[in-house]
Amino acid sequence: MSNLPDESFRDTIATIDKEGKRNFIFPKKPVGKFYDKRKLVSYVLLIFLIASPFIKINGNQFLLFNVLERRFNIFGFPFWPQDFYLFVVMMIAGVVGLTLFTVAFGRIFCGWFCPQTIFMEMVFRRIEYWIDGDRGAQIKLNNQEWNAEKIRKRLLKWFIFFLISFGIANVFLAYLIGSDTLIQMVEEGPLSNLSTLIALLLFTGVFYFVFTWFREQVCIIACPYGRLQGVLLDNKTIVVAYDHVRGEGDKGRAKFKKNEDRQSAGWGDCIDCHQCVNVCPTAIDIRNGTQLECVNCTACIDECDSMMEKVGLPKGLIRYASEDEIVKKEKFKITTRMKGYIAVLSILLILMFSMILLRTDVDTTILRLPGQLYEEKGKNISNVYTFKVINKSTEALEHITFKVVNPKQGILKLVGNQEIHVKKADLAQGTLFVEIPAALLESDNTKINIEVRQGNKVIETVTTNFLGPRAFN
Ligand code: SF4
Ligand code: SF4
Repeated sequence: MSNLPDESFRDTIATIDKEGKRNFIFPKKPVGKFYDKRKLVSYVLLIFLIASPFIKINGNQFLLFNVLERRFNIFGFPFWPQDFYLFVVMMIAGVVGLTLFTVAFGRIFCGWFCPQTIFMEMVFRRIEYWIDGDRGAQIKLNNQEWNAEKIRKRLLKWFIFFLISFGIANVFLAYLIGSDTLIQMVEEGPLSNLSTLIALLLFTGVFYFVFTWFREQVCIIACPYGRLQGVLLDNKTIVVAYDHVRGEGDKGRAKFKKNEDRQSAGWGDCIDCHQCVNVCPTAIDIRNGTQLECVNCTACIDECDSMMEKVGLPKGLIRYASEDEIVKKEKFKITTRMKGYIAVLSILLILMFSMILLRTDVDTTILRLPGQLYEEKGKNISNVYTFKVINKSTEALEHITFKVVNPKQGILKLVGNQEIHVKKADLAQGTLFVEIPAALLESDNTKINIEVRQGNKVIETVTTNFLGPRAFN
């Protein structure tokens, strides 16, 4: 028998066997301090996730990502495609923030806040424990022949999983099309909204597939954030780590024997009980060091702590720690790399908040009608425009008018009503004509200014182009 250490974890994953087939994992039910705290965090996040599309602030949905109609609400503030630059800065700030957080604290986001982990570990997995039992019972059930008990348990589990997936798909749809529209469609009945029903069933199918079959593979194979860990983590990053100095001692790990003096014998504190592996939802052995598959769920910390307690050894053999803390006993400190990210993030946040503060409630665009030339009307030249007034505020905009202020002699005529009314978080659009005395034009393409007014109050001044004949060059 070879004495070489088992290094197979480096080029294999526990969820796929040698033939490339799926190995299903039956993790032991976690119990302990961290699991209790994670449950609490999960409940709060689940309530937030489910309630957000149904909460209104000043009549605006709290969170809305209506890609089709290009309407977005973030924390009740409506954003329009015209605010795209703000969105981009927010996204970049989010990515830099997450990078900084990962460099400092590893994959904590995955274990505590990621919706995939929350739904998988705190909803679907717990239902599985309730129906199928803990690890041992699940393995037994999986290996046994199809009998009445197995059929009953499987059907019950799949039915509940389907119902929850359908519920998640509805919430997901409320984020996309708005909760009011969703409720209205539900009231109208599925036959009146067949295409939406098909989309809903497709989403349900995706969620059902992910949480019933694909599971941890999302974190191991599909998640781009997971794949980035290799470049983001270093020896100073705090991760869920096995204290190999203490665990291995001089002679390595060994099974626990009663009344034995492990220290004098040279054994480390790891009693090789394998419970940290049994409880792991990605089936890795954390004693091999930080691995891509580890989602920092803390289940192994709880499990190892309970084993340490049972054998009378100090807890914390697996804990939140950096490699440098374990090997060099160095405490956490802010590294130059982190300082760099903090500087970039600070600049982005200042930029983002300045943009939010400078963002106007009304956004008006006045553009010449494409393909239309100017028209001569006696001594005047006339151009036709389309306008769009976006009201981003939570109040309706009444009595909006336009006035040409440069040159002052310009005459503006709206097609249709002479006043514009824009509902809150809505837009108004239409056509208008501008006439300017030909003698006042500086070139064949003159810049003119138009004021957008509400009563006597100037809300905005818009600059646009005015075409004229070349003779005025
Ligand atoms: S190694 Fe520990 S923290 Fe990482 S996924 Fe497994 S149980 Fe969770
Ligand atoms: S649970 Fe703790 S003691 Fe048991 S094998 Fe894992 S690290 Fe060693």
